[in-house]
Amino acid sequence: MVEIKTDASVDAMREAGRVVAQALTAVKKAAAIGVTLKELDEVAREVLREAGAGSPFLGYRPDWAPVPFPGVICASVNEAIVHGVPTEYRLRDGDLVSIDCGAKLDGWVGDSAISFTVGRAREADVRLIDTARAALDAGIAAAVVGNRIGDIAHAVGTVCRAAGYGIPQDFAGHGVGRSMHEGPDVPNEGRPGRGMKLRHGMVLAIEPMVMAGGADDYGHAPDGWTLVTLDGSRAAHAEHTVAITEAGPRVLTAL
Ligand code: MG
Ligand code: MG
Repeated sequence: MVEIKTDASVDAMREAGRVVAQALTAVKKAAAIGVTLKELDEVAREVLREAGAGSPFLGYRPDWAPVPFPGVICASVNEAIVHGVPTEYRLRDGDLVSIDCGAKLDGWVGDSAISFTVGRAREADVRLIDTARAALDAGIAAAVVGNRIGDIAHAVGTVCRAAGYGIPQDFAGHGVGRSMHEGPDVPNEGRPGRGMKLRHGMVLAIEPMVMAGGADDYGHAPDGWTLVTLDGSRAAHAEHTVAITEAGPRVLTAL
C-alpha cells in the first residue's frame, strides 16, 4: 500500500529525518581507528535519546532474520553491504564503513545511510563511495511529480553500472511513513517510464548499494543479518528519505 502524506505529515517526517541526520553526523565524527561498532551504536542511541526519538531498527525482525536486530544502526564494514550488526569489531586503518540509521519521532520514521572511510582511504573506496552518493543524487533528481518509480530506478542503476559496479538485486528502496518499510519498492535498477507514477505527498527512501567487484552476487554472513559480497569486494551504501512535492524533491534526512 502506498500512503500519500499531507504536507503537515511531511513536515513532521522532516523532524524525524533531522534526528537521523544528527545521529549519522555524530557517528561519522566518532568513527576512528580502534573504536568498536558497538560504541558507534551507543553514539547514535544517545542522539535518539536526546531527541526523544525511538529506533525502528532495534528489535526489527523480518521473516528471514534469525534474531531481532540488536542495534539502532546497521554498521557494515568493507565487504559488508548492508544490515551489518554493531558488534565489538574495532575499526582499522582503511576500513570502509556504511552506517544506516533510522529514527521514529511523533510516530513518523526517517531512514538514511552514509558510507565513509576510517584512517587512510584507498582510492578505490573513495570512488565507490562517491558513486553511491552520485547514484543517490541522480535518484533524487528523478523523484519528481509525473515521473515513475522506474525513472528513479533507472537513474540510480545507470550511475552504478557506468562505474562498473554490481548491484544487489533483491534489496531496494521503499516507501517510508509511520513504519520504516511501506510500498512502493524503489529498485536500484529499472526501466524508465515504468512503474507507479510519482505523486505529491509520496515519501520514498532511495538507497543505492554498490559492490566494487562488478558482480551482483551477495549472501548472508554467518550472523544471519549482514549481507556481504560473495567475491569479497567492498561495498558502499547511500540513502535519503525524500518527499515528492510539486516544488520538487524534498530531502527529509539532511541536517
Ligand atoms: Mg536505511
Ligand atoms: Mg531504507
